[in-house]
Amino acid sequence: MILTFVEHDRGALSPLSLQMLACARQVSQETGEPVHAVLVEGEAAGLVESLSRHGVSRAYQVRHAALEQYAPAAWARSLSQILDVHQPSLVLAAATDRGNEVMAWVAAMAGAPLAANCVEVRNGAATVVRHRWGGSLLEEASVHGQTRMLTVAPFAFEAAEVDNPAIPVIETFTPTLDQKDLRVRVTAREESPAQGVNLQTARVVIGGGRGVGSAEGFGLLEQLAAVLGGAVGGSRVATNNGWRPHSVQVGLTGNRIAPDIYIACGISGAIQHLVGCKSAKNILVINKDPEAPFFRRATYGVVGDLHEVIPALIAEINARKRTR
Ligand SMILES: Cc1cc2nc3c(=O)[nH]c(=O)nc-3n(C[C@H](O)[C@H](O)[C@H](O)COP(=O)(O)OP(=O)(O)OC[C@H]3O[C@@H](n4cnc5c(N)ncnc54)[C@H](O)[C@@H]3O)c2cc1C
Repeated sequence: MILTFVEHDRGALSPLSLQMLACARQVSQETGEPVHAVLVEGEAAGLVESLSRHGVSRAYQVRHAALEQYAPAAWARSLSQILDVHQPSLVLAAATDRGNEVMAWVAAMAGAPLAANCVEVRNGAATVVRHRWGGSLLEEASVHGQTRMLTVAPFAFEAAEVDNPAIPVIETFTPTLDQKDLRVRVTAREESPAQGVNLQTARVVIGGGRGVGSAEGFGLLEQLAAVLGGAVGGSRVATNNGWRPHSVQVGLTGNRIAPDIYIACGISGAIQHLVGCKSAKNILVINKDPEAPFFRRATYGVVGDLHEVIPALIAEINARKRTR
């Protein structure tokens, strides 16, 4: 059996978990093994239909009063106890912060090998291709062991629904937890202010870097985002300078995005930034330095001052909208 750790929030399955389920289904088609899912916290009942549409035939709902909020060791303890009972051949999670953290704990508890950030799986997931060094290298690796564990890199697989979904069986699982499993846990959640279009799902993302020059300078990028229906992100320089919140940072230590087009304004194209936007279908780079490394990854490039190029772009888009 293939066991998947599925993340969800306020009644919706995480889009990255749905991509991971597509990977699980690919392996299932090769090996004939069913895909089961583990859900910790929240209510599985409302998610059953989505799970079945993504090929899950059985779901384990973990229930324990101490698990209402995220607690990595306790979540992992629950998962490893399910592993002990059901002995899956493969365990998968999305390579999110939580997915990688929980799976690292489970691998340590189960003494099983973990391959993180996989972008390709072959031979029933005995061979994987995975990101190394923040995505700057791809490594082919063989995964051995009775139970193999993988996390699936964001946007490596496309979420897809099955043709004939079956209603999955839901089983409740009550783990045995120790107080020490709860030493690290979330005690409160703070909502970030509404930011309009979501960076992770936006079809257009406008990214700003040092070249934007100030927090106020981002107003121009907001205007471009508004005419294109996009979201605004930033490089680490932009977030370190406090021009944008860290939650919208793109890159190795920020978000991985996959929009139809990423418009990178005043960003040099350091490898740690490129890792976050390499899945973008198109990249438009606006930079006044023709030697900026980002141009080597660009689909389109404009050499110029963003403070002149962006207003011209907005004026042209608005003019074309008016003549439509
Ligand atoms: C462990 C680690 C993790 C990291 N994680 C991340 C990460 O997640 N995300 C990230 O972004 N970085 C990350 N970094 C930092 C990364 O290495 C770069 O330092 C950073 O991306 C540079 O940001 P920048 O392109 O905005 O600034 P710079 O490299 O300074 O580039 C600014 C660019 O703006 C151009 N420019 C200036 N003025 C204008 C103008 N008026 N019009 C047009 N162009 C202009 C310049 O020509 C230049 O190319 C990480 C680094 C480390 C070591």
